[in-house]
Amino acid sequence: MDLTFAKEDEDFRLEIREALRGLVPPDMARRTRQRVHPTKADLKLWNRILYDRGWSVAHWPKEYGGTGWSPLQVHIFEEELAAADAPFLTYFGPRLVGPLLYTFGREEQKRDLIPDILTGETLWCQGFSEPSSGSDLASARTSAVRDGASYVINGQKIWTTEAHYADRMFCLVRTDPSVPAQKGGFSFVMLPMTDPGVRVRPIVTLDEGHSVNEVFLENVRIPASDIIGEEGRGWDYTKFMLANERITNAHVPRAKRDLVLLKEIAASEYGASPSAARDEARRRIAQLEMDLDGLEWSVLREIINGSKNPAIASGLKIVASELQQRMTDLAVDMIGARGRIFYGEDDFERNDLPGNPGEYAPGLAARQLFLRATTIYAGSNEIQRGIIAKQQFGL
Ligand SMILES: Cc1cc2nc3c(=O)[nH]c(=O)nc-3n(C[C@H](O)[C@H](O)[C@H](O)COP(=O)(O)OP(=O)(O)OC[C@H]3O[C@@H](n4cnc5c(N)ncnc54)[C@H](O)[C@@H]3O)c2cc1C
Repeated sequence: MDLTFAKEDEDFRLEIREALRGLVPPDMARRTRQRVHPTKADLKLWNRILYDRGWSVAHWPKEYGGTGWSPLQVHIFEEELAAADAPFLTYFGPRLVGPLLYTFGREEQKRDLIPDILTGETLWCQGFSEPSSGSDLASARTSAVRDGASYVINGQKIWTTEAHYADRMFCLVRTDPSVPAQKGGFSFVMLPMTDPGVRVRPIVTLDEGHSVNEVFLENVRIPASDIIGEEGRGWDYTKFMLANERITNAHVPRAKRDLVLLKEIAASEYGASPSAARDEARRRIAQLEMDLDGLEWSVLREIINGSKNPAIASGLKIVASELQQRMTDLAVDMIGARGRIFYGEDDFERNDLPGNPGEYAPGLAARQLFLRATTIYAGSNEIQRGIIAKQQFGL
């Protein structure tokens, strides 16, 4: 089996690498390397820089503002972005609601909403999970009740990433309480985060960072035309989005960058002299590299062949999420006690931290804690195992 890229793909890679040289502002690159939750200013600025080159939604079809590149070229482009320490663009617009809109949206929705996703002018958040409906989304209770030419929305969402940055939420709502979700009970609506009935309350996570929120919706009134696509098709749209999200979450390009950083940490911590700790780190890095290679080629096979097998998307989500956790576990283990010191987001700019941490130490422990979430979000890994058992083995 030949795992090398063809010459024209490598030429494309060099072209992209050259074009990206110096494009990421250095302080933004440092924040990305240290994996601070991206700031709204960074997200907007980086989106704009990419947009100016026609690259803000490289994976989209050309007719909607994408590049028309092949899936492999998009993958190479994303690898080069990660290698340049470019921030990971918010994916609720470009990855989730954008493709939904151009696939299922009405013509006027495509016309009115897509341009601001391309420029990053409108940032979106995803209102799926509720306090007692995370894995079991079909039990979500947030309601949208028709009142003349409007819908009135009431309910609560939780774990809403970047709700505090977002201009709009795409929101899963119950429009017909008399039928189950799968039989047309749900719809998708969009709502403005500036509505007086929307209240966002921060959730500070284990890493002491703020990226997720609770969102309370009280009598939020939207025009009936702000239903996305057709009423009653919310469940179909949810399945479409979740499948996209699981493959996206494979995050291979970012993991490849993390592997390079892991090797740099190992070289700096252990030098060239043999030791048991150095051998152990080498063994773990080699295992991670093999697993990452396997993941990369499995993801490529899926995106190139356009496979729609949900069991495979679930399998890739499991492997990718666990890999991210194993990588930060190793990084923290390698730097010993310094890796256990917690550095909050405000500490990244300081140079008087205890224990002489080294450039790579700030943020590592926080990242290790935050990444516990990778096996929970985008559908927990237990749920993915259930999907594989049912879809693949008929259990
Ligand atoms: C950092 C982070 C960001 C997030 N961002 C968003 C976002 O932007 N928008 C959004 O809508 N949601 C978001 N989520 C929510 C996420 O999708 C849910 O947390 C996830 O789906 C799990 O739901 P839950 O938290 O309600 O847990 P529960 O569903 O209550 O599950 C609790 C535990 O039980 C297990 N479990 C549940 N059902 C089964 C079953 N049938 N079989 C086996 N085990 C089961 C689960 O695996 C889990 O371990 C985010 C979550 C996190 C942690």
